[in-house]
Amino acid sequence: MTAAPLHARLEWQDGQPSSLDYGDVYFSRDSGLHETRHVFLAGNRLAERFAALPQQAHFTVGETGFGTGLNFLCAWQLFKACAPAGARLDFVSTEKHPLSHADLSRALQAWPELASEAAALLALYHGMETGHQRLLLDGGRVSLSLLIGDALDTLPELDTRVDAWFLDGFSPSKNPDMWQLPLFEQLARLSAPDATLATFTCAGFVRRGLSAAGFAVKKVPGFGSKREMTVGTRLAAGTLPWQAPWLSRPPQTGGRRAIVIGAGIAGASAAASLARRGFSVTVLERHAVPAQEASGNPQGVLYLKLSAHLTPQTRLLLAGYGYNLRTLYACQQKGTDWDDCGVLQLAHDDATRKRQAQLAAAFPASLLHPVSAAAAGVLAGLPLNQDGLFFPEGGWIKPPRLVAALLATPGVSCRYGAAVQSLDRTDKGWQAELADGGSCSADMVVIACANASALFTQSAHLPLKPIRGQVSVAAATGASRQLKTVLCGEGYIAPAADDAHTFGASFNFERSDSEVSADEHTGNLAMLAELSPALYQALDGDTLSPATLGGRAALRATTPDYLPLVGMLADQDAFEAAYADLGRDASLKLTTPMPWLDGLYISSGHGSRGMVSAPLAGELIASLACGETLPLPKPVVDALSPNRFLLRARIRAAKGRQS
Ligand code: SAM
Repeated sequence: MTAAPLHARLEWQDGQPSSLDYGDVYFSRDSGLHETRHVFLAGNRLAERFAALPQQAHFTVGETGFGTGLNFLCAWQLFKACAPAGARLDFVSTEKHPLSHADLSRALQAWPELASEAAALLALYHGMETGHQRLLLDGGRVSLSLLIGDALDTLPELDTRVDAWFLDGFSPSKNPDMWQLPLFEQLARLSAPDATLATFTCAGFVRRGLSAAGFAVKKVPGFGSKREMTVGTRLAAGTLPWQAPWLSRPPQTGGRRAIVIGAGIAGASAAASLARRGFSVTVLERHAVPAQEASGNPQGVLYLKLSAHLTPQTRLLLAGYGYNLRTLYACQQKGTDWDDCGVLQLAHDDATRKRQAQLAAAFPASLLHPVSAAAAGVLAGLPLNQDGLFFPEGGWIKPPRLVAALLATPGVSCRYGAAVQSLDRTDKGWQAELADGGSCSADMVVIACANASALFTQSAHLPLKPIRGQVSVAAATGASRQLKTVLCGEGYIAPAADDAHTFGASFNFERSDSEVSADEHTGNLAMLAELSPALYQALDGDTLSPATLGGRAALRATTPDYLPLVGMLADQDAFEAAYADLGRDASLKLTTPMPWLDGLYISSGHGSRGMVSAPLAGELIASLACGETLPLPKPVVDALSPNRFLLRARIRAAKGRQS
């Protein structure tokens, strides 16, 4: 990864963009709209295929080169006109240089007949960071997965089944690096059995490459002055290479009834993502109201603790950050429920300064950039003593408001005071037995109740560990209201909301209760004095004491590798029996199918990063349940597998035997 500017560099002629990097136009100067309809929509017979979809089916379009989104908007418009009401459009597109918001807005002004779709896209076109970025449009009926990066890097990590391909991406003569056999092989790998493709080009080497990769291609009449273009169909795939069964995709869920256990951010996110796909979701919550545990803090921050290397954690955070920003734009009131005021991460020691320099070199300035102490002070509205990194799109949120908005998604109903004691698989699906003697049944269950997630027989082996965190809350003062951005260092403080500042949070491994502690208040005050002496003074810090501060303590759920547990669970005993031979030789290519607990999912272990990772985890579960494009690269999905610790235990056993 490099710090090269991420965005496309454009020049404009008569309101139409062309690329300075590739020396080519984004769409035909004559009529981009008609060209798209002819080449990509008609070339893939989309009108008739959309119309023939069963209710609740989804159709997946794959594209190389999102550009201005014209092809996407046209496909969406056609889908609305032709597909049955319950069907969903799953559109996945790669883009190496996304347009800036301003350029996208300017480019889309050319198409008045797409104005409403374009406005909806622009409203959510935020947080376009490297990696997978999911946007939900039309109440979730349309899901757009943008893979930000080179198609030759992003497609090999994509998990989807594409029904129709749009091969765009500038002309092969202007962009020969993209139109290569490895790209065509990825298109073939990701194709549904009778997938089609269409492209404006009929360059010989493109047609030969597509044939070599397994497509039957032919020339058909092109658009306007272009005599010919190419369409194709996927031929039968050959034998697939071995894939580890424990990393296989779990079976789709048959019915459309779901139970979600837990009404915090993880549960509410999974419930909303499932309901948007037509599920009838019952959220079972033991407390009397939602967001009573770690999601109940009055203010949280959109904070990214990144690594300069693309670790699974960093990739999850980048995708989750963008997704949560868009969720906030979609369902929260800016300025009241959340604010993208920016986040300053201050460097409190040499090691942090060094790490921040590496981050600044690795990521584009639109995500983060270095600032001097003086510049940081101007951004923050108060003098600061430390240099740092500024994240312009970050900010603060009110987690309980976000949880409430997600639970208000049509199709979600909540039962409070409903403590689930056990889960049983019956011939009709899953049954949850409640402490009050009642029960509830559904086709699938999502366990999303933080540390209590390991209380069920099926999940008891999960290594969840509580880490207590306490925030302190101080009344704003005239001087403290000057704070304009979130400040982070060893802890954080956010600008005033409801005339109070939230700061903290402690990390306490010793205690597992949620009583507010005077010691942790004192620790939070010391953190604040170190982070910003000026703000500490503005808040009359010396007069603040555990007795005058408000506060709240809760238990985060974490895992040994600090990655959450997201996905379908396997049966522990059957897993150990099926893959026992890995204990003898960890490199064995076993083929025993994965013993899934069909329909039993988990989203837990989000630690202190739940506001960034949990909303996207909900999307991942819903995408798995419906057999749709996954919203994260496959290696990240694998790293989040709730069954990874069972596998590691097998492999450790093998290593132990060798040594
Ligand atoms: N489909 C677009 C539309 O509807 O506006 C037009 C696409 S434009 C002709 C080509 C796009 O492909 C550009 O946005 C360019 O940045 C992107 N692109 C070029 N090479 C790429 C690559 N190797 N990986 C991903 N995207 C690439």
